[in-house]
Amino acid sequence: MVATQIAARGIRDRRVLEAMRKVPRHLFVPAGYGSDAYRDHPLPIGHGQTISQPYIVALMTELLAVSPGDRVLEVGAGSGYQAAVLATLGAVVYSIERIPEVARIAEENLKRAGIPNVHVIVGDGTRGHPPAAPYQGIIVTAAAPAIPGPLVDQLAEGGRLVAPVGSRDLQELVKLEKREGRVTTTSYGGVVFVPLVGEHGWEGQAGNGLP
Ligand code: SAM
Repeated sequence: MVATQIAARGIRDRRVLEAMRKVPRHLFVPAGYGSDAYRDHPLPIGHGQTISQPYIVALMTELLAVSPGDRVLEVGAGSGYQAAVLATLGAVVYSIERIPEVARIAEENLKRAGIPNVHVIVGDGTRGHPPAAPYQGIIVTAAAPAIPGPLVDQLAEGGRLVAPVGSRDLQELVKLEKREGRVTTTSYGGVVFVPLVGEHGWEGQAGNGLP
């Protein structure tokens, strides 16, 4: 997976490649999908949600450029896999998930894989998580109509925020950097994610009454 799908497509950060080699992705996919775990596409994880394609996880991780000890906020815990990769790079991860059952799956997967330093929190991640702010890195793993304001506020000076931003059907992967209070944005091409549902996202999109 790492050689043919990730390094071959231009991911160069050796720490990211090593973390992607280390984390056992098969422990983060539902029973029955084990043989597909290392393939080049996203997979369903239940509740209409997905574990992202390995290459996209690697790309977002490289863009986030985390250093050991960084506090990282993830919006959209999903399977817990992206959080596991970030924790393997030495980050302390606060991973928010809006669907309680999915949050439980993430916690179980992380425990099974023996990954420490990930705090899974149930809630609306578009509001961020003020108790652990500011964050050196923020990663949004669901499609946002725009970058939620509270996330920009909770980004540390010198911090990076990576998110898919656009319509429900197609987004642009963007990276924000905050320097001397100013934010710069760079685009990294088209991606497709499930919607970010919440106060500062696609409010009510899922329509299932969850927070
Ligand atoms: N990062 C995950 C992984 O490694 O498996 C994949 C995340 S999946 C593509 C998107 C997740 O974002 C879903 O689990 C969805 O429930 C969650 N989500 C959507 N809107 C959210 C919000 N406002 N707050 C927190 N989680 C949200």
